Amino acid sequence: MGKNILVLAGDGIGPEVATEAVKVLRAVADVFGHTFHFAEALVGAAAIDATGSPLPPETIAVAEKSDAILFGAVGMPKYDQDPSAAVRPEQGLLQLRKHFDLFANIRPIRLFQPLLQASSLKSEILEGTDIVFFRELVGGIYFGEPRGRNEARDEAWDTMRYTKDAVRRIARMAFEAAMRRKKRLCSVDKANVLESSRLWREVVSEMAPTFPAVTVAHMFVDNAAMQLIKNPRQFDVVLTENMFGDILTDEAAQIAGSLGMLASASLGPRMGLFEPIHGSAPDIAGQGVANPIASILSAGMMLEYACGLLEESYAIGRAVESVLEQGFRTHDIKDAATSEEKIVGTVTMGDLVASQIQRISAF
Ligand code: NAD
Repeated sequence: MGKNILVLAGDGIGPEVATEAVKVLRAVADVFGHTFHFAEALVGAAAIDATGSPLPPETIAVAEKSDAILFGAVGMPKYDQDPSAAVRPEQGLLQLRKHFDLFANIRPIRLFQPLLQASSLKSEILEGTDIVFFRELVGGIYFGEPRGRNEARDEAWDTMRYTKDAVRRIARMAFEAAMRRKKRLCSVDKANVLESSRLWREVVSEMAPTFPAVTVAHMFVDNAAMQLIKNPRQFDVVLTENMFGDILTDEAAQIAGSLGMLASASLGPRMGLFEPIHGSAPDIAGQGVANPIASILSAGMMLEYACGLLEESYAIGRAVESVLEQGFRTHDIKDAATSEEKIVGTVTMGDLVASQIQRISAF
């Protein structure tokens, strides 16, 4: 199979982890006999520095010709610390999501058994956890209008806005996923306070009879935040809006041991973008210590969702698991039992996973 993949590495640790994901994809291509053509383009602060725009038209033009986008991360402290900056790196990602209508953000919370001790949560609470988040990605308060600021009155405002259609299309994907899994759907909202959440809950309730095999629960977001760390096993598929999903999945990263472990797929009608859920981590950028596994697993999701290559996607997950079973750890997932010689940097972790792919294929 031949596929054109656009790599948008971005800023901070983005290029470091994306390089390792590409390395692993090359190993997959080699072993399974596929051809992946990789193109690169600018996004985020790197794009602002070079062109003045966080998403230059040339980047969109290359993306239009690609089958899928492998995304690193965007963001730079100089913009984070300047609230008045009119052009910001994150706008590049938001514009990309909007341009390709990437409305469905799928975030599996996969707990690798060897990492049980790496989490700040007790292993008996974590054991058996397997959750998939469906986060609506192009609506809600991140995009709603009106938004603005009135300097004279010292005020600023954003708008959380949803249409029934926008809720329906992400809810449908979540219901379908629940049908393929344990048939439990938890829809998270704040319907006791927000009008947009009442609409959300209404739509999900209206759709429930179409999926009679799925048990539907509604949960307020504040309770969901608590339940996630109290008893994560109770969740199967979690459906939620844009900002709630953003926050809850960062919290859920602690179940997987680190932000550096969580992959995501953002799907629209004609394009998929695959990225780790973490940001550009400026605190560790350039040190060669970032965990590339989230990016590598995102490449695995790309093989599944954009290429239909299930066996190859599974091979990536299995290779990661095997490297972890052998005791190798990046700094963010080490624990008291990890010996010094098993603590590896970004490049070595990528090498280990890539060579494990070769080894898996030998059996
Ligand atoms: P972050 O995810 O970049 O980092 C949070 C913490 O997790 C940091 O301590 C970091 O060192 C650690 N971490 C993250 N990824 C890691 C990895 N792969 N391996 C090891 N440790 C890792 O979040 P932040 O610090 O809040 O934001 C930094 C910048 O990233 C900001 O500019 C923010 O706007 C941006 N951001 C971008 C995205 C994206 O590109 N999708 C997402 C979130 C934040």
